[in-house]
Amino acid sequence: MNKIKVGILGATGFVGHRFVQLLENHPYFELTSLAASDKSVDTEYMGIKIQKCVPNLDCRLVFSALDSSVAGDIETEFMKAGYIVSTNSRNHRMDENVPLLIPEVNPEHLDLIKSRNNYIVANPNCSTIGLVLALAPLHKRYKLTNVIVTTMQALSGAGYPGVPSLDILDNVVTYIPGEEEKIQTEPLKILGNLENGIIKPAEINISAQCNRVNVSDGHLESVSFGLEKKVLVEEIKQNLSEFNPLISLNLPSSPKQPIVVKDERPQPKYDRMSGNGMSCVVGGIKEDSILGYRMIILSHNTIRGAAGGAILNAELLYKKGLIR
Ligand code: NAP
Repeated sequence: MNKIKVGILGATGFVGHRFVQLLENHPYFELTSLAASDKSVDTEYMGIKIQKCVPNLDCRLVFSALDSSVAGDIETEFMKAGYIVSTNSRNHRMDENVPLLIPEVNPEHLDLIKSRNNYIVANPNCSTIGLVLALAPLHKRYKLTNVIVTTMQALSGAGYPGVPSLDILDNVVTYIPGEEEKIQTEPLKILGNLENGIIKPAEINISAQCNRVNVSDGHLESVSFGLEKKVLVEEIKQNLSEFNPLISLNLPSSPKQPIVVKDERPQPKYDRMSGNGMSCVVGGIKEDSILGYRMIILSHNTIRGAAGGAILNAELLYKKGLIR
């Protein structure tokens, strides 16, 4: 089988390094190009020379791990020049013609790009991915009404060099710029219905508060939620652990179980590598006297929440014949 040539934009950053690691010996993709800012150009990484982020790379698809201050324009240039772009950056997530994709949750949104050869597909925010993966089966079956989420986000989520050590040692940073808005809006697009070529956002109230905590990898989210009908906690657990809509596609990065349900609460240090960092771990599911139910969610922010998620997106494009 001829592998698809792929490149990485922003290859020298935190997420860029994860891409390089996860693309090694990939069955569908061959890593041929790495690109970053002028300061890194002509240095070498894994035996590949770093190039400028201009659309003359020898590949069909680029994974973008670019800083959001530059990602928007560079990704548009690549798309216009004929490349497929699978991005982690926030810039194009809410564009009308860009699927905001979690393969297990909204593969039907790929209809937005199915008649095009070059397009952008985006990954949701790293906290949104875990949250929506765990909520989607419940929304599909019982309809969510309200969600309140408090995040405890890992340091690697801030990229390199990240949060100054004196801000995070002996501290919790109780504000992450722009993060709450993303978590409150992105799920509505992902869980929305595609009608006549337009995504109609889901009608769910979401309130988010975000914190940066002194953990290397793995975002933890404490979630309370309401459902339109009353459901037994055991039924919720079963619904989540049986959720595996991609099983027949056998995608290389798909975890055996997208949602791992535990009785105890997940912790970053012990649970983040569940399903090679691609599973979302859910625990402490209980009835709650305010909204109805609560749970704790954990997902690996640079694997499922970034590079691994974008690679899974590209694997789905490949399997669906959308990389032409
Ligand atoms: P990072 O460590 O700061 O890396 C940023 C990358 O962008 C570096 O490769 C950097 O290259 C490149 N870059 C910066 N300015 C550039 C320019 N003017 N031209 C070309 N390249 C430039 O950030 P990160 O944490 O890997 O995040 C990358 C993207 O993914 C961000 O948009 C972030 O919001 C998103 N994201 C991150 C996570 C996470 O958990 N970290 C999760 C989901 C999404 P140089 O090294 O040459 O400067």
